[in-house]
Amino acid sequence: MPTLDAVSADITTLDVDVVVNAAKPSLLGGGGVDGAIHRAAGPELLDFCRTLGGCEAGDAKISPGFGLLAPWIVHTVGPIWRGGTNGEPDLLASCYRRSLELADGVGADSVAFPAISTGVYGYPVDAAAKVALAAVRNTDTTVGRVLFVCFSDSSRRHYDDLL
Ligand code: ADP
Repeated sequence: MPTLDAVSADITTLDVDVVVNAAKPSLLGGGGVDGAIHRAAGPELLDFCRTLGGCEAGDAKISPGFGLLAPWIVHTVGPIWRGGTNGEPDLLASCYRRSLELADGVGADSVAFPAISTGVYGYPVDAAAKVALAAVRNTDTTVGRVLFVCFSDSSRRHYDDLL
């Protein structure tokens, strides 16, 4: 069981083994955290992502970190919020589980997650935080430390309350 912490930070600046990206199905970049990660990692990341063949919601793919401090980036595609009864919680949980599986595969000790789906994909922040924590707690992993990276104080409060 990894130690779990909520931190307020720009995820692109963190010195961890794996930075998780909330990506689009094409894996070819976007706005929000995806855009920030591509800007910080540099154009080699986009070239590499073109070889990955996209990614379905709930799944994840791994790339090198290129210009990031982190040696690895896991790109996972969260569900678009459509009211909550269209499989969104299971798909969101799957993002966290699959990301940890890929992190295990490269022997990662520390993983930083953004609040997947809570930006343009519209997932309510408090509900997403509950799913995120439960999914990480229910995944068997060799990762030793998981950071939940919050970009706003309100998001941070949800994680602090739950932790
Ligand atoms: P999605 O399409 O999965 O909703 P977004 O990138 O729009 O993805 O938003 C996901 C979350 O990432 C939001 O809570 C947003 O505030 C946060 N975020 C945006 N930029 C960063 C960043 N540089 N570091 C950490 N979190 C970020």
